[in-house]
Amino acid sequence: MKTIGLIGGMSWESSLEYYRIINQEIRNRLGGQHSAKVLMYSLDFEPIEELQRQGRWEEMALILQDAAKRLELAGANFFLICTNTMHKIAPEVQDSVRIPLLHIADATAEEVKASGISTVGLLGTRYTMEQNFLKGYLSSKHGLDVIIPEPDSRDIVHNVVYDELCLGTIREESKKVFLRIIQDLGEKGAQGVILGCTEIPLLVHQKDTSLPLFDTTAIHAKKAVEMALM
Ligand code: GLU
Repeated sequence: MKTIGLIGGMSWESSLEYYRIINQEIRNRLGGQHSAKVLMYSLDFEPIEELQRQGRWEEMALILQDAAKRLELAGANFFLICTNTMHKIAPEVQDSVRIPLLHIADATAEEVKASGISTVGLLGTRYTMEQNFLKGYLSSKHGLDVIIPEPDSRDIVHNVVYDELCLGTIREESKKVFLRIIQDLGEKGAQGVILGCTEIPLLVHQKDTSLPLFDTTAIHAKKAVEMALM
């Protein structure tokens, strides 16, 4: 079994899910007392979140490069960045180490395409929905058509992520609003919706809607297990 490296803490609410899902998946596949070989380097999110707001991505790249190097030195065979948003600097982080990065959008696109969907809605932070690092990657590399919510809905999703979900707050009201936004994406032609922020699966679940949902946390974590057992 290979050792999985995780750059976590963004937020730790979702890193906890990665750790749980990875171990659960190893148990499902190998049974007995098997558990995953995992190294996590968990960052302090407060300064990162501040740098995001200021658009200082080069500085964040240095922080994540340092984390990736530590994981490589500690013996990780490959690594994950446990957030969609920070994939904005994925190329710079990958360039700093020899071990491969398991990109969240590759894992997700594979699932979307396997389900026969070509037009997909995307929910995430404003960075993820409005900039091109994930959306553009999904369309140019994987041929998917990506639809995002209207500006006012994007604001709501972004604010709920940072002001509630990253702080461990789950509100029924926010869930209702998210489900309405998911429905709107369906009406605009999305055949499914990517939960492109690793905390959103803490709020909405597949049983809440008939539209197929793609939970990037679970997809990414399960893909890591597949890679660890290859
Ligand atoms: N975890 C979130 C994501 O998947 C947002 C927090 C962050 O900015 O990293 O995008």
